[in-house]
Amino acid sequence: MTFLPSEFHAAMNRAHAGAREWIDSIPGRRVAPSANIDEMLAVFRGPLQEQPTAPADVVDELARLAEPGLMAMPSGRFFGWVIGGTLPASLGADWLVSSWDQNAAMRYASPATAAIELVAGEWLVDVLGLPPGSEVGFTTGATMANWTGLAAARAYLLDRVGWDVNTQGMQGSPPISVLAGAEGHTSVDLALRYLGFGSPTRVPADEQGRILVDELRVALRASESPVILCLQAGNLHSGAFDPMAEAITLAHEYGAWVHVDGAFGLWAAASPSLAPQLAGVERADSWATDAHKTLNVPYDCGVAIVAHPGAARAALGTQTAYLMRAEGNAPDPMDLTPEMSRRARGVPVWAALKQLGRSGLASLVDGLVSNAQALATELATLPGVLVLNEVVFTQVCLSFGSDDRTREVTSKLIADGAVWMSGSRWRGRDILRISVSNWSTDAGDVAFSVAAVQRAMR
Ligand SMILES: *Cc1c(COP(=O)(O)O)cnc(C)c1O
Repeated sequence: MTFLPSEFHAAMNRAHAGAREWIDSIPGRRVAPSANIDEMLAVFRGPLQEQPTAPADVVDELARLAEPGLMAMPSGRFFGWVIGGTLPASLGADWLVSSWDQNAAMRYASPATAAIELVAGEWLVDVLGLPPGSEVGFTTGATMANWTGLAAARAYLLDRVGWDVNTQGMQGSPPISVLAGAEGHTSVDLALRYLGFGSPTRVPADEQGRILVDELRVALRASESPVILCLQAGNLHSGAFDPMAEAITLAHEYGAWVHVDGAFGLWAAASPSLAPQLAGVERADSWATDAHKTLNVPYDCGVAIVAHPGAARAALGTQTAYLMRAEGNAPDPMDLTPEMSRRARGVPVWAALKQLGRSGLASLVDGLVSNAQALATELATLPGVLVLNEVVFTQVCLSFGSDDRTREVTSKLIADGAVWMSGSRWRGRDILRISVSNWSTDAGDVAFSVAAVQRAMR
């Protein structure tokens, strides 16, 4: 088999055409997919054929057949879960990353991607107002970014009590108390599970889901072992932020490691008008966030940030002779993330920040919040609609009266498909949940979405 640039050109041209068709369809298309999973399986399933297929034909078939089963997640009218769209520069950069096909594990192996990711990390630490010198790893998402921060915490706290978790493991280790707010995200629970901690001790939260500092004090007093405290910047339902300054100061009095899950909410720190809600967050020990949510880079990209130089590497680093290292003692990318081999997913982050600049990033975040507030204000004027949360960030939770009625409106809206919002249950009620996470949502999308909800109500 021969490396033929022309074969790449043909496949890439088809990909380009298919991608353009998709992007061109976004402003006008229904958000919901028109085919369900069973229909898509019927399209794709079948025995693998015996003979090869021309690369361009493979790409062409893929683009054509997949289209009905795609959700328009890049649309400004998509408000499901917490899912961002894609900035043009990031999409272009992501294509380059695939074409370059670099294994981003080591500085020695790929100086270009290592440098770009290092700079993207420095820019992130800067725009988020975190301590200079914090170390940054690019993970698949916030789940693994949470895992990374918590793995660093585990190694660090156990080391302080004379236990090397890397060699001695968790069986028979000194105990660690893990505290988390009552409305912490399930991905923190997953990360704790992967690390052998089991479930955290839940600290009660207020009606917006913010951890209660008095209750935290009680929990800290009761802990007889080193503590990891998991805080949250951006509640999945209300968007609320834990009281960072108070909670972190208090936890540090008890020698705790404070980890902040800021998957989408940490980006508030990049906006001068929103940052005060997060004041003090920079004093935590580690942070997890997602670039594929609020920053709007293509899937996937999470960001793990650790304030203590060397702590992530102590937990995640490795040393064997065949991995050739660059000169000097700086960590390689693979020392700061769970993976060894991975794509250079920090490059689209660099591109997003370069496209936006500081002011563009602040406007992006401010814009999401003002659209969320506009949706909440306009929807609240409809008869029987209740906005259940204080809209302090990008999330809006609605009730239409009874749970039955809310579920009915939600399923009508989803069946209509012109916009997409998801259902959930929060504080004992069924809700329709809106997350404004797409950079391109504008006033037209807001008006269109209010009309779609009105239709679903009728
Ligand atoms: C989305 C989210 C996560 C999980 O992030 P993934 O990127 O899906 O791994 C964790 N915490 C919060 C608050 C989230 O919104």
